[in-house]
Amino acid sequence: MGADEDGALAEYHRKRDFSRTAEPAGEVTPDDGRLRYVVQRHRASHLHYDLRLEMGGVLASWAVPKGPTLDPSVKRLAMHVEDHPVEYVDFEGVIPKGEYGGGDVIVWDHGTWTPHDTADPVAAVRAGELHADVQGEKIRGRLVLIRRSVAESSEGGDGRESWMLLHKHDEFAVEGWDPEAHPRSVLSGRTNDEVRADPAYHWHSDRPAGSAAESTAEVEVPSGDDLAALDELGAEGTWEVFGRRLKVTNLDKVLFPPGEDGEPVTKRDFLRYVATVAPTSVPYLAGRALNLHRYPSGADAKGFWHKELPSHAPEWIGRWDNPLADADETQTYLVVDEPAALVWAANFGALEWHPWTSRTDAPECPTYALFDIDPGEDTTWDQVLDLARLHRTAFEQLGVRSYPKVTGSRGIQVWVPIDSGPSFDDTRSWVEGVSRTVGRLHPDWVSWKWVKRERGGKARLDYTQNAINKTLVAPYATRPRPGAPVSMPIGWHELDDPDLRPGRWTIRTAPDRLRAVGDLFRGALVDDQDLPAFR
Ligand code: MN
Repeated sequence: MGADEDGALAEYHRKRDFSRTAEPAGEVTPDDGRLRYVVQRHRASHLHYDLRLEMGGVLASWAVPKGPTLDPSVKRLAMHVEDHPVEYVDFEGVIPKGEYGGGDVIVWDHGTWTPHDTADPVAAVRAGELHADVQGEKIRGRLVLIRRSVAESSEGGDGRESWMLLHKHDEFAVEGWDPEAHPRSVLSGRTNDEVRADPAYHWHSDRPAGSAAESTAEVEVPSGDDLAALDELGAEGTWEVFGRRLKVTNLDKVLFPPGEDGEPVTKRDFLRYVATVAPTSVPYLAGRALNLHRYPSGADAKGFWHKELPSHAPEWIGRWDNPLADADETQTYLVVDEPAALVWAANFGALEWHPWTSRTDAPECPTYALFDIDPGEDTTWDQVLDLARLHRTAFEQLGVRSYPKVTGSRGIQVWVPIDSGPSFDDTRSWVEGVSRTVGRLHPDWVSWKWVKRERGGKARLDYTQNAINKTLVAPYATRPRPGAPVSMPIGWHELDDPDLRPGRWTIRTAPDRLRAVGDLFRGALVDDQDLPAFR
């Protein structure tokens, strides 16, 4: 806690127990000339938007029940609340139930602001009128805040003032603009629901207050010693990693031809990557049969599916005997339930990992509905993006939380986590219904033909993978292409990033990306939803 108990943040500190909440504890920082602006969408006992303007080293704050708007014809009630520490500008997460403000928070808008017609905004607020020129991503133009009355002061002296918020008739004004129609975080692209569903956003008692705002970026990694040990091996040897001893082979063999950086990717590079992401990847594979797409001769050569766990697999490797298998089908599947098992599979030549969408304890009940936007030869990247945006809009309208990723190859996939229960037939027909609705908007872009050469170069919205033992590539798995691109989870807002490409991240850049943004797919693991009805 800061040493500012009687200063600008005293009220903020009085209301919060920092041994219980992940919110930033905050220290008063001096102005550096750039004034920050943020609006957080906060679902506490009542939904409201917290408008915060940096001034005097803190964030002056108003709770706006209906949210700020670009519409100049409406006046919003804005309750002046206690100043917040500037560290709060990027707080997004879940405040524990029972704590002050308990609920979920997203960074709904952010940017900078400048005071209009005053050099002393703190004095302007004290005097009861502030004009602010805001440069946000959603809100731009001049906001005006005017005090209307001072409510009865409570014992603690925290009388809440009722203010009025409006947007001027300026070039940024938009009649009828509704903040609720723009529900996503400008930081993560997530909705409040998606943030709430993500365990990485929750308060962890073992973490210091203030660090949990970045907790999604905290990714467990193998020890530096383990990675150094791999580099010290010759062409093969025994690697001790994640507490297991693994025989690793052909370490200097080129597995992927060079990508844009001109560097070929060796098997040693590949295993290092796999060990680095394994702690993040394993939760997507654990408890599920894994179909391996093997390329033992490298990504250049033809790969093949390998499903039967080989008899030479170490005893500690997880496995599952499929009770539904016929005599001529795969009997025993690999189940990757610890990081070392994924490294073992990688050494075995599994460049792609395809987990079943059902768990081994209920193999006929999928826990994901899969959407696969699969471009044809004539499909442009812009068309892929537009088809993805239409799916996103459909999910929003249906109230469904969904998790997109680039495939590392050509397309975009969306995984919708569902509560185990509905059959593959139910799931497939729901996915088909949504995708056909989207596809009808662009009949020139989308083909429903089963056979590829009959699709006339058009994209396919492939709902057929929603079937037992059919799979899509796992998040963070590599694809057999030059430079070893990976299938990378993205935030929905990244569809608007001009640099987004299906193969943007490779095994050389994916670990940094993961450290920077965290595991954006994590909600897909736990965010069980009822499969919606769709007709
Ligand atoms: Mn609030």
